[in-house]
Amino acid sequence: MGIYSNTLLEFRCPLCGHVNAISVDTLKDMYKEQREPCQQCHQMLEIIPANGVNDQINLIVSEA
Ligand SMILES: [Zn+2]
Repeated sequence: MGIYSNTLLEFRCPLCGHVNAISVDTLKDMYKEQREPCQQCHQMLEIIPANGVNDQINLIVSEA
């Protein structure tokens, strides 16, 4: 993911609506779920990085 290095991606907590940020560097594999807690309500969230339009990465977020 070279060109994305140090880029922060935002994802919204489905529970409280807080917008969290995650570094692209911490995303290991596309389409592989990862678990990160919401920074506000501490709900554990399941995040799946997916290819979006214009070579962007979309994060699909759900409650873990
Ligand atoms: Zn939350």
